[in-house]
Amino acid sequence: CGIVGYVGQQAALPVVVEALRRMEYRGYDSAGAAILDGAGKVRVEKRAGKLANLEEALGAEGGDAGFPGTTGIGHTRWATHGRPTDRNAHPHVSGDVAIVHNGIIENFAPLRAELENAGVELSSDTDSEVAAHLVARAMAEGETAGDFVASCRAVLSRLEGAFTLVFSHAKHPDVLVAARRSTPLVLGVGEGEMFLGSDVAAFIEHTREAVELGQDNVVVMRADGYEITNFAGEPLEGRTFHIDWDL
Ligand code: GLU
Repeated sequence: CGIVGYVGQQAALPVVVEALRRMEYRGYDSAGAAILDGAGKVRVEKRAGKLANLEEALGAEGGDAGFPGTTGIGHTRWATHGRPTDRNAHPHVSGDVAIVHNGIIENFAPLRAELENAGVELSSDTDSEVAAHLVARAMAEGETAGDFVASCRAVLSRLEGAFTLVFSHAKHPDVLVAARRSTPLVLGVGEGEMFLGSDVAAFIEHTREAVELGQDNVVVMRADGYEITNFAGEPLEGRTFHIDWDL
C-alpha cells in the first residue's frame, strides 16, 4: 500500500498516477486519486483492482491536457477494514475535504458512532472515512472553524493506531496537510513543487532532496515550502537528506 501527494506547477494528475505506479511494488487491492482544480472543486476517482482500472476511470482526461489542477493526492489500498470495493477505496470525501490513509485507526468505532449520532452518513465500511468527516466538521464549527491546518491537527490528536494520512481541502488548493504515526512518510523537496510518498520511489524522478518525517510529525506543504510540527502545532526540524542512488 502507498500514499502520494503533490503541490506544484505541473498538472497533478499524471504526476500522481505515475507516483502510484512506482508504489505498486508495495502491494495493493485498490487505487484512487483526488485532484484539486484550484478553483474550489475536487475530482475524485477510485477503483478496486489494478491501477489500470483507475486509469480507465480517469479516461482520456488522465493525460496532461485533462483535469486542470496542480495539487493532488493518491492512494493504493491494502484493505484492513471493509472489503476491497470501489466504495471502500480511498480517497474518502466529506464536503470539500478528501483524505487518503494507510494503516489502521484503532478507535474508529467510537468516532463512527459520534458522527452517526451527529447525523453524518458514512459511505464506506472503512476505519479511514471518519478522518474526512471529522476534519470537515472541525472546519465547520468549534475552535478550529475555518482553519484547515488547525482542524487537521485537532483531528489527528484524537486518532489512535497507526496511520499515514494526507488531507486536502478543495477551497485551500495551495496546501496539503500530512501526518504519520508508526507508518512511513517522506517529503520530496523540489523547486516550486513538493512531493509526498510512502518512500522516495514516489518522487525520485522529480527530486533528490528529501526530508524524513519522524513519529507524530505533521507536515504542511505548499509549492514553495513546508513546515513540520507535532500534533499540537509546535515547530519541529525534519531530517533532510540527499538521495544519491542511481535509477
Ligand atoms: N485501514 C484502511 C482501509 O482498510 C487503510 C488500509 C491501507 O493501509 O491501505 O481502508
